[in-house]
Amino acid sequence: MDPIIIIGTGLAGYSTAREFRKHDGETPVVLITRDDGASYYKPDISEAHAKGNDPEDLVQKTADEMAEMLDATVRTWEQVEAIDPEACEVRLASDTLRYSKLVLAWGADPITLNLAGDAAEAVHKVNNLMDYRVFRGNLDSNDHVVILGAGLIGCEFANDLVQSGYKVSVADPAGWPLAQLVPESAGQAVKTALAHAGVDWHLGHAAAGINESHNGRYRVELDDGSHINADIILSAVGLKAGTDLAESAGLAVDRGISVDRSLCTSDPNIYALGDCAEVDGIWRPYVGPLMQCARTLGKTLAAGPDDAPSQVSYPTLPIMVKTHVCPVIVYPPVDQGGDWQIDGQGTALEGSFVDNEGKLQGFVLTGEATKNRRDYIKQAPALMD
Ligand SMILES: Cc1cc2nc3c(=O)[nH]c(=O)nc-3n(C[C@H](O)[C@H](O)[C@H](O)COP(=O)(O)OP(=O)(O)OC[C@H]3O[C@@H](n4cnc5c(N)ncnc54)[C@H](O)[C@@H]3O)c2cc1C
Repeated sequence: MDPIIIIGTGLAGYSTAREFRKHDGETPVVLITRDDGASYYKPDISEAHAKGNDPEDLVQKTADEMAEMLDATVRTWEQVEAIDPEACEVRLASDTLRYSKLVLAWGADPITLNLAGDAAEAVHKVNNLMDYRVFRGNLDSNDHVVILGAGLIGCEFANDLVQSGYKVSVADPAGWPLAQLVPESAGQAVKTALAHAGVDWHLGHAAAGINESHNGRYRVELDDGSHINADIILSAVGLKAGTDLAESAGLAVDRGISVDRSLCTSDPNIYALGDCAEVDGIWRPYVGPLMQCARTLGKTLAAGPDDAPSQVSYPTLPIMVKTHVCPVIVYPPVDQGGDWQIDGQGTALEGSFVDNEGKLQGFVLTGEATKNRRDYIKQAPALMD
């Protein structure tokens, strides 16, 4: 029997295998990953340092331990180079594997800024544990860290590193932190709290280049002609779903690999979930949605040919931003028709996104106001019914 092949051993890949095994203990399962296959909870990365954790402390199970637990084969350090949907084959550098069903769980890639200068290559990006090992290995005590990007990941790292005693500067062309997720007043609350903790903000300015400076450190050149000195630079300017291999295989893609509510791509034997997938038009690269998908897909993969596939739904799944000096809980509205109404003082704000009929469609809570999350979660609509 050809196995079910899962490409990717992140939260999406391993959770799917785990869910599948709850319903089917027989069918062979092969997981393929281009990394070491360690199982870890990725959100832990951006709060590890201040909690006193080294990268290795985040590993929950090795690839061998996962293989044993899942009664599966885990092929590590192998990159999938192509998929042939007609032949039901996956091509690796030195092997070709046949599948009965294929699951794409290969995640997203960090966006690379187009930077000028002689040290543009020195910029770190952290989207997995291997990247984080390299970043932490190059981080020395007393370093001045410059973070490019004030989105969720940039702000969480700023919080973690400043609380760990580093000097931290953050540059972003947006006018306030978390600008793609929250209204200005909520972003200002985060800015104020992190500034109070020691973060030096350079908002409204994009990084234009990185140069080595004569004392061995770097100069981050900003687009207004100013610069920030840095010992180490971390770019956190966003992610792009991994769609190239899927597109080359002839699968439908949009912002992510397009799948329907049963997580099926435009090929009936290929499924996708996690950061690489756009589910029924929604791309939400967060843990909550992918866990819903893994539970649904686990059932569908185990179902017989005459069973109707399970359909995923998303309840109200807010995003928790782990800026501990001013935590944020945000549930961005799916439809932008409406306005933010903000209440509160200082860094404790409650914002409701209300549509033209007066209905709550989204919310944001900052600082102390995050304790009111239950009331808002009860009232806000499901992300996908
Ligand atoms: C620092 C950080 C903090 C975060 N914090 C939060 C948070 O607080 N809350 C939240 O909800 N979300 C958070 N996220 C997002 C969340 O972690 C991701 O949505 C989730 O982990 C994505 O899982 P995934 O399995 O889809 O992708 P990944 O974890 O990226 O896994 C992709 C897998 O595919 C493999 N792969 C890729 N290409 C190939 C190939 N061609 N061949 C073989 N293997 C391949 C990789 O080796 C890897 O095993 C955070 C993300 C980061 C980076």
